[in-house]
Amino acid sequence: MAQMSESNVGPSSHGEKGSDLTGHKLTNGGSMAQVLPKEAIEFFGRMPDVERDAIFELTKRYRAAHADFLAGKLAQKPINLGIGAYADKSGNTPMMPTVAAVLRTIAEEKIAGATETKGLYLPILGFGPFIQGTENVVFGDALAQDLRANSRLLSCQALGGTGGCFLQGAVLARAGAKSIYVSTPTWGNHLKIYGMTGLSVEKYPFFNSTTSSVEQGKMLSFLSTLAAGTPVSLHACCHNPTGAQLSGGEWEELSDLFAQKGLVAVFDAAYAGFGESFDLDMQGVRTFASKGIPMLLSFSYSKIASLYDERVGAMSIVLPESPNGSNAQLLERVKGNLEAAIRACYSNPPGTFTRVMGRILNDPKLRTGWESDRQSIADEIFHGGVLLADCFEAKGIPSGNLRQRGGMFSMLPFSPEQVQAIETDQRVFMLGNGRINRGAVNETNAQEIANRVYEIWNR
Ligand code: PMP
Repeated sequence: MAQMSESNVGPSSHGEKGSDLTGHKLTNGGSMAQVLPKEAIEFFGRMPDVERDAIFELTKRYRAAHADFLAGKLAQKPINLGIGAYADKSGNTPMMPTVAAVLRTIAEEKIAGATETKGLYLPILGFGPFIQGTENVVFGDALAQDLRANSRLLSCQALGGTGGCFLQGAVLARAGAKSIYVSTPTWGNHLKIYGMTGLSVEKYPFFNSTTSSVEQGKMLSFLSTLAAGTPVSLHACCHNPTGAQLSGGEWEELSDLFAQKGLVAVFDAAYAGFGESFDLDMQGVRTFASKGIPMLLSFSYSKIASLYDERVGAMSIVLPESPNGSNAQLLERVKGNLEAAIRACYSNPPGTFTRVMGRILNDPKLRTGWESDRQSIADEIFHGGVLLADCFEAKGIPSGNLRQRGGMFSMLPFSPEQVQAIETDQRVFMLGNGRINRGAVNETNAQEIANRVYEIWNR
C-alpha cells in the first residue's frame, strides 16, 4: 500500500469540506485522499488516443442536430442515412409482428419460471433449439442435417453479428492464424474486430467504385497468391458498404479457388434475405459448405428480425471432410476451444430473444410469419433505393447501384468534401465514403434528400 504523505494526512484545517490545504479534492465527506505514486496517477493516461467509431459518432451528430431542430434552433429537419437500420415512414423501427407475438408468450413463460433452464444460465454455447434452427435456415435443412450427421458442423449463439465476428477471430487465433484478409472496402468494424482478436488485418481488391461493380478477376488473381490455410473474410450477401452481390457463377469460381488453394472462408451474413431471396443470399455459404471448404460463419438477426438492441446472432464452424471419414474427435477439440473462448469472454449468452427466435425457427407457421415480416422490410428497403434513384437521376446525380436488390447499402460516388458539405450545409447524414442506408429512404423523404444533395452536387 502506498505511504501517506504527511502534508496530506488529517482533516482540512480550513474547515471547508471538500478540499485540503494543497487544493486536492477530499473523499468520503472530508477524509483525505492519499497522494498516490505517479505510476498509479498516470496509469489510465497511458492509454492511446483512439479515433471514435465513425458510425456511432455520425449518429451522435445526427441526434444533436435533431434535438436542435425540435428545439426550433434549426430550420431543416435532419435526415439520417448513416447507421444501417430500417425505419418506417414515421422514422420508427417497429418490432416485427411475429416476433412481438412470440415475445409475449416467452415473457409469460419466463416470469412463471417455465423455461427449460428455469431462469438459470444457458449452456456456454447457447440455447440448443435456436442454434439448430439457425443452422437449418442458413444451410438449408438437408445440408445442415448432413453436416451434423458427419460431425462437421458446430454452432453457438453470438452477441449479434459483431459478436459472431469476434468469435471467428478468437477461434482463428486459437488455430494459429496470424492474419485475415478482408475486402476493399469492407464494414469498418471488421478491421477493428479481427484486430482486437490479435490477427493482422490485410486487404484484397473487391470493388470498383467508378463502375459500381465487383472486380472478380482482380479479386481471384490476388487471392490465388495467398498461402494455404489463410483466412479470408467474405460477405455472404448484400456487401457492406457497397451493396454488391456475387452471382451463382462467381461463387462457384471463388469456391473452386478456395478449394484449390486451401483457403479458409470467414463468412459474415448480416443481411440474409435482404437481397433477391434468402436462398440466393445463402448460395455462397451453401456452395462453400457443400465443397467441404473450412468455414467460419457469423450470422446476425439484428436487421433481419429487427432485433438491433437484443444482440441475437450465431457463429457456425464447418469442418472440412476428413480423409479417414471421421471428424467426431476434431469436432470435440474445436468445441472445447470455442467454449473456452466464450467462457473467458462473457461466460454464456442471453436467453430471452434467443428463445423467441428459437421458437419461431422451429415452428413452420411462425417461421413463415417471420419470413413474410422480413420480406416486407426487404421490399421497403429495395423500394427506398429505387425511389432515391428516380429522384437522383431526374436531377443528374449519379445513382450508383441504388436500383439493385443488394440489401441496405449503396456507396455513392461523392467525395469526402461533398459528404461533409451535405452534412453541415444540408443536414443529410451519411458515411464519409458516401455509403447510404436505403432502409431510411421512403416516399416522404426521397425527394427532399435529392433536393438537398443536389445543392452540393451542383456547386
Ligand atoms: N457484419 C456486417 C457486414 C454488418 O454490416 C454488421 C452491422 N452493421 C454486422 C456484421 C454487425 O451486426 P450486429 O449489429 O448484429 O452486431
